[in-house]
Amino acid sequence: MVTDVVILGGGFGGCLTALIARQIGLSVVVVDRGFHPRFAIGESSTPTAGVILRDLAARYDLPQLVAISDYGNWQKSVPDLVCGIKRGFSYFGHQIGERFVPDNHHQNELLVTASANDEQSDTHWLRADVDSWMAEQAQVQGVEVLERVELTGLSGVDPWVLQGVQAGRTIEVRGHFLVDATGAASLLPKWLSLRSMRDCLRTQSWAVFSHFHGVTCWHEWLRGQHATLHEHPFCCDHAALHHWLDAAWMWNLRFQDERVSAGFVMDLRRHEIDRRRAPRDDWESMLERYPAIGDVFADAQLAELPGSIIRTSRLQRLWGKLADLDWALLPHTAGFIDPLHSTGIAHTLCGIERLAAAWSECWGQSGMAEKMADYDRIVRSELLLIDQLVSNCYDAPDFSTLTACAMLYFAAATTYERQRPAQSAAFESAFLCANSVAWRQAVATVSDWLQRLGASPSPSELRLFEQRVAVAIRPFNQVGLFAADIMNMYRHTAAPVSRHA
Ligand SMILES: Cc1cc2nc3c(=O)[nH]c(=O)nc-3n(C[C@H](O)[C@H](O)[C@H](O)COP(=O)(O)OP(=O)(O)OC[C@H]3O[C@@H](n4cnc5c(N)ncnc54)[C@H](O)[C@@H]3O)c2cc1C
Repeated sequence: MVTDVVILGGGFGGCLTALIARQIGLSVVVVDRGFHPRFAIGESSTPTAGVILRDLAARYDLPQLVAISDYGNWQKSVPDLVCGIKRGFSYFGHQIGERFVPDNHHQNELLVTASANDEQSDTHWLRADVDSWMAEQAQVQGVEVLERVELTGLSGVDPWVLQGVQAGRTIEVRGHFLVDATGAASLLPKWLSLRSMRDCLRTQSWAVFSHFHGVTCWHEWLRGQHATLHEHPFCCDHAALHHWLDAAWMWNLRFQDERVSAGFVMDLRRHEIDRRRAPRDDWESMLERYPAIGDVFADAQLAELPGSIIRTSRLQRLWGKLADLDWALLPHTAGFIDPLHSTGIAHTLCGIERLAAAWSECWGQSGMAEKMADYDRIVRSELLLIDQLVSNCYDAPDFSTLTACAMLYFAAATTYERQRPAQSAAFESAFLCANSVAWRQAVATVSDWLQRLGASPSPSELRLFEQRVAVAIRPFNQVGLFAADIMNMYRHTAAPVSRHA
């Protein structure tokens, strides 16, 4: 039997693609090496993700997707899936070897609220639960999900023929269109011998991470230091909490069951990967270098899943071709930059939305080749833009400059959320306004100014840089970024929610 679509990889991305393909009327098989529930990293969602989920729910008659589009709906509809509340992004700038000292004027803090209240807030997805739930939704809709399959090869053209082994038995799966949702495994790029474009990317980073219990809340630690917490627009732990370090940063994502996803991301230019060291040693040495973080992790224990500290190699990837007439790489396979700015989930959803639009408009018709060429071009431009937004932050010489660089992300995200044309225009809009020449030019100009600052800029040069960034992003600044009187405490930036019940 030949199915219309074969999806490699059954994470939330692969399974959601399958679910939508079914709604369009296509037959689908998902093939995964693992089985649900299983650990996966990449958990912090954003308002953009919520907006796209609600649009997909309305367009493809999948009301169940609204359940995971914000915290309020999540609690009402799927309370058994573990999530964390995310009111926005919080950042704290540390000095190596010194215990963090809260500043009354918040000069080493940045809090950017997304949603207006808890009900509409974003979430951290416990991926073991969410991916498993998404696979169930797909199966209910008639998707065949084949788990524990070791794929061994690809042959044929139309149909594609995949060979694999499941429970010691050789199997074959045939399909007209292949979607690679295997992320870092990047099966299809390897089988098709696609060229790696990683050397074009500026960001160079790697990570060590895990899930923990017993991590002290950062706001409790700050309270102990008499920080002016009442000026925080939200509890800084109800966020993607970032500790900004020397050529590195750390994420902390707190789930409702007090489990914490935590990871250090290191700039490879300053922190080499030493394979002779155990990942645990990398972890411990970072805790030693940053005493306040060491304090909050003093009693932390590894959670059962994954049960160890995981170390990556260099995180970045970008393939030379991202789609063709009868295959496509979902964004997380097409490329990856860095967890900074939590772009992964939203970008994956953007890619799925675009692929679904191509199928529903052009399946089996002559326009498909053009659509897939557009898919390739747009996803690539999105990844290259994310690379610039992230690498600027790594190049920032101090916390204040980092804050200015982060504003580019917030300008792009909030503008995209407001300008995103409704539903039918998946090919006319691009994630983070990557299709806007004016925006790409503004970001490139800021990168250029940053490079020219050199290694040790003077305070007046840094101030001038920040002023110039504020002017450069003005046409995209919908939410009062760079407001002088708010001391880095932004109270609300997400677009108004239009609710599909
Ligand atoms: C360290 C890190 C932190 C991140 N943090 C965030 C964040 O906070 N917020 C955010 O939005 N994004 C984040 N991301 C990105 C996020 O992980 C991805 O966007 C997201 O996982 C994409 O989901 P997916 O289902 O498309 O792919 P994946 O989650 O990568 O799933 C891939 C699937 O393919 C399967 N697979 C792998 N190999 C094979 C094979 N050989 N055969 C068959 N199946 C296979 C796997 O079992 C898995 O089910 C992060 C990424 C990294 C690396």
